[in-house]
Amino acid sequence: MELKEKAFKSVSRKTRQEDTVIDIGGGVKIGGGNFTIIAGPCSVESEEQVTEIAKNVKKSGAHAMRGGAFKPRSSPYAFQGLKALGMDYLLEAKRATGLPIVTEILNIAHLGLFNDVDVIQVGARNMQNFELLKELGRTDKPILLKRGMACTIQELLMSAEYVMSEGNTKVILCERGIRTFEGVTRNTLDLSCIPIIKAASHLPVIVDPSHATGIASLVAPMSYAAMAAGADGLIIEVHNDPENALCDGDQSILPSEFDAIAKKLGKMAKIFNKNM
Ligand code: PEP
Ligand code: MN
Repeated sequence: MELKEKAFKSVSRKTRQEDTVIDIGGGVKIGGGNFTIIAGPCSVESEEQVTEIAKNVKKSGAHAMRGGAFKPRSSPYAFQGLKALGMDYLLEAKRATGLPIVTEILNIAHLGLFNDVDVIQVGARNMQNFELLKELGRTDKPILLKRGMACTIQELLMSAEYVMSEGNTKVILCERGIRTFEGVTRNTLDLSCIPIIKAASHLPVIVDPSHATGIASLVAPMSYAAMAAGADGLIIEVHNDPENALCDGDQSILPSEFDAIAKKLGKMAKIFNKNM
């Protein structure tokens, strides 16, 4: 089955031949020939935790940091994030390191808390929350749009179209695995979507090997594979104490493991013609 490219207006490479390059602040760009790495914990747990991880990943060459303050959890009884306080801690980590921050929005009513956030993440569970997408389309913030766990490439691009149709052209797509019959991994990483999207659209595409696999030891090989497949970057969960993480510890890697991955990607970048 082919993509129905006639449905795309703003996202299509037919309307814009050159790659879109998105400036996320702090001199960091996503798209074009850049390979951009976003790293940090699944959830913001304390000011010390997020600042320490931010300092560590920065040392290893991360370009931006992630951390959830509002967490979309499958159980209402699971840790839901530190919310506004978590946002303060993230901004503190940004002040301490200069790294741009990426964090998820769950509800448009919280938009006022995102003024100093550099990239607003729309999670897999909200990829087709069209009212949220349209509202974000009226902001000028870069939007990291994660692929829904049961959504097609066509649907991902249509969701990007929702944001862009309201005027915001700064959309970064993210492949984070889709649900299949396979149960060993949390999701199945669809690396083939990268060259397909890159041919059909000018938007940058990054890969989340953490949620795609759910297994810390798979983060390294899937990160290398993502670069080889043509991704514009990665978003990786890094935790200083994965065993005691409040969320997604099984897929979180240590700062030392992140350092080794970043070093190897730096060598690979020369072969794959990426600026890192
Ligand atoms: C996350 O990035 O922590 C997250 C919840 O991701 P996803 O929406 O891809 O499940
Ligand atoms: Mn997570």
